[in-house]
Amino acid sequence: MSNIPDPILQGLQRGWKVLGGKHGALPERVSCDVAIIGSGAGAGITAELLTKAGLNVVIVEEGPLKSSTDFKQLEPEAYASLYQENAGRKTKDKGITILQGRSVGGTTTVNWTSSFRTPEPTLRYWEQHFGLDDFGREALAPYFEQAERRLNISPWLMPPNENNELLRRGADKLGIPSATISRNVKGCWNLGSCGLGCPTNAKQSMLVTSIPAALNAGARLFYQTRAHKLDIQNGQVKGLLCVPIRLNGDKVSDQTMRVVAKHYVVAGGAINSPALLSPTLQLKNHENIFFAGQITGVEGYMESAAMGLLAGLNAAFIIEGKKAEPPPVNTALGALIQYITSPEHAVQFQPMNINFGLFNAPVEKKLRKKERNALIVHQALQSLNAWISSQKLNELRPDIFC
Ligand SMILES: Cc1cc2nc3c(=O)[nH]c(=O)nc-3n(C[C@H](O)[C@H](O)[C@H](O)COP(=O)(O)OP(=O)(O)OC[C@H]3O[C@@H](n4cnc5c(N)ncnc54)[C@H](O)[C@@H]3O)c2cc1C
Repeated sequence: MSNIPDPILQGLQRGWKVLGGKHGALPERVSCDVAIIGSGAGAGITAELLTKAGLNVVIVEEGPLKSSTDFKQLEPEAYASLYQENAGRKTKDKGITILQGRSVGGTTTVNWTSSFRTPEPTLRYWEQHFGLDDFGREALAPYFEQAERRLNISPWLMPPNENNELLRRGADKLGIPSATISRNVKGCWNLGSCGLGCPTNAKQSMLVTSIPAALNAGARLFYQTRAHKLDIQNGQVKGLLCVPIRLNGDKVSDQTMRVVAKHYVVAGGAINSPALLSPTLQLKNHENIFFAGQITGVEGYMESAAMGLLAGLNAAFIIEGKKAEPPPVNTALGALIQYITSPEHAVQFQPMNINFGLFNAPVEKKLRKKERNALIVHQALQSLNAWISSQKLNELRPDIFC
């Protein structure tokens, strides 16, 4: 048994409010000021700040609660328990593995601790292209300083290993400036297994910083608890439906927990965005934010452009006080939108091109594939034309849908 203090076990002994997994069944209903989905980089800081500000905070995390006592530097154990899809999450063509954390602390429990401020050219780009005037270097400096203090970010004083030293010498010779990256660690043992969970708690992840601080200040944590659906009525989030899950991600039962909050923070990572989008490509919990292009979850140039066109049309409609209606589901656009915005696809989401498999068109079963597809196309065009007329799109720009 390790004699390194484990802040999670200590907190649990002090009586933290933690449920889910082996800590007990979820209640049917929970009320709070702020419900936060996820417990990683974004969620952790939010939970700490809001709890310390006196708000009643609930954290919902689908991954397990693991801590330094569990971290044995063993790849099979760590990949299976601390990563999304056992660290096997891949792009659709299986060409690239996408690592993403899934445990309390989120990806910060397994990340590699490189910590640097957003580079100035990136901030300038945001400013010039997205009008983010408040996100310049000076404006952000106090927030970076605050995070650096909180997470103990400082230069790594170890000499680089030979691989990295070679890179540094090469960069030097080519006149490319290089520097050692700062890290968020305190008393690092340099074990080299950051990606498997830190067994010494040197890594200043959310697991040992913000999440314990929030729980100490009274926040409630529900782990192995998946935020399944935001219940939205008349454009307002009325509740968050959660389900208890096993370590492997399967549902424990059909039991649900309804979290009713004044505010909801979605911080479950950037990948499962489709669960958050409404069929009008608005963020469900922030209706004046529209998604366009590939970030909606579609794949391909035409599909991305189509999502941009629809997001633009919807935004224009709403600005004019009209109701935006998504295209019918038996059109190519409608079928694609149905796919990317359906919660059942969000758990193991694959970016999608338009294809005949997306259509549920009620067509004759006996038809051969070619005839069936021709019928789907025919029906799709009829529905698209009807939708264009009903939305009066041809009055806006008659050539748009040619
Ligand atoms: C191996 C690895 C090494 C990395 N190294 C570095 C590094 O050195 N420096 C750096 O700056 N960045 C690094 N990163 C990236 C960095 O850790 C992430 O960008 C950052 O943690 C993302 O923060 P987040 O809050 O968006 O989500 P995450 O930290 O990923 O947290 C999201 C959490 O939400 C949970 N969740 C998702 N969906 C649901 C749901 N429906 N219900 C409930 N919970 C849900 C997930 O289980 C997860 O725990 C690394 C990433 C990986 C994978």
